[in-house]
Amino acid sequence: MRHILMAVSGPAGVGKGTIVKTIIAKRDDVVESVSCTTRKPRAGEIDGKHYFFLSKEEFLRRIEEKDFLEYDEHFGNYYGTPRSFVEETLKTKSVILEIDVVGSLNVKKEFPELVLVMIAPPSVEELKRRLIGRGSEDEESLKTRLARLDYELAQRDKYDYYIVNDDLDTAIAEVEAILDGEGNTAQ
Ligand code: 5GP
Repeated sequence: MRHILMAVSGPAGVGKGTIVKTIIAKRDDVVESVSCTTRKPRAGEIDGKHYFFLSKEEFLRRIEEKDFLEYDEHFGNYYGTPRSFVEETLKTKSVILEIDVVGSLNVKKEFPELVLVMIAPPSVEELKRRLIGRGSEDEESLKTRLARLDYELAQRDKYDYYIVNDDLDTAIAEVEAILDGEGNTAQ
């Protein structure tokens, strides 16, 4: 069976992390991509497992060499999806990228075979109410988050698959079916 590159994206709080982690834990033919970053490791983080920790110079050199399928800056540090790691891993396993909507659409430009999966909440209103209810953010950043949620869901048409996570086990089974189905037909 050929192995595929899949991006699993969707708004924060939609459960995509749980879906991806569960699939990776139960299957040895699927792994999650390891991103590169210029931020310092936090306690307990292992180089090559949580991230590849790079100096800024090294990261910039790899940008020059076009070794990133996408990259971005967050909180003053660079983060990117390494092309070499993904391509090497795809020789033996399928690879899942758990990245945001913008990131996954950027990867698609570099890697057209990418299978785009969006995980959506059963109720957008309910997810918004939960974000607002947390009360952990000031009005400005809450506004940004809500606008981002609308923007992300509005990209639905660019995606190959749209999965509503109203039941976790069903959503996991649907993502696995895509992994198997896409793997088979891509032979
Ligand atoms: P953290 O430093 O907390 O691990 O991650 C900070 C932010 O970087 C998060 O929003 C995370 O989603 C984002 N991030 C992690 N890896 C990548 C990547 O490979 N590409 C992009 N564009 N963002 C990433």
